[in-house]
Amino acid sequence: MELILISACLLGRPVRYNGTSKTCDSPDIIGRWSREGRLVPLCPEVAAGFSTPRPPAEIVSELRGDGAAVLAGAAWVMDSAGVDVTDLFVKGAGQAVEMAQRFGCRHAVLTDGSPSCGSSFVYDGTFSGTAVPGIGATTAALQAAGVRVWSQTAVPELDALLSGRDQPPNTQPRI
Ligand code: SF4
Repeated sequence: MELILISACLLGRPVRYNGTSKTCDSPDIIGRWSREGRLVPLCPEVAAGFSTPRPPAEIVSELRGDGAAVLAGAAWVMDSAGVDVTDLFVKGAGQAVEMAQRFGCRHAVLTDGSPSCGSSFVYDGTFSGTAVPGIGATTAALQAAGVRVWSQTAVPELDALLSGRDQPPNTQPRI
């Protein structure tokens, strides 16, 4: 059975910067995965040592870099108070990779938009609510380690993929 690394905030854990959880778009599927014992929850920011609540943070880059640039040292993560929190974001990304490898996770469902967990967009570093295409630092690290990252809106697609893969061989319906 495929185990799935998942953003802890998608499971109702109040670990977001503002002390809330994140609404899950597919509670039925997530609930079934949980009952099946598939889920490996992690908040990379809390794992790295951030407290909750904490100031919001965004990726800052002169060249519009995202989480991959953060890992490469070409972009930074700053919080809204102007504190450079890059090191903790890199640490959290590494812990996510370690967790995925420990549990053999080839897929992760992460909360989009986060400077850690974003998989299609992040915010532009101006703290003005401006989204830009890009990925977070944890997503970049997981992808580099061969883990496929899905946003919470793509849960049905991942479920369909896993449903096909998990069928035992020779169970094709007879016509
Ligand atoms: S770092 Fe990821 S898991 Fe943690 S609160 Fe942010 S989006 Fe959720």
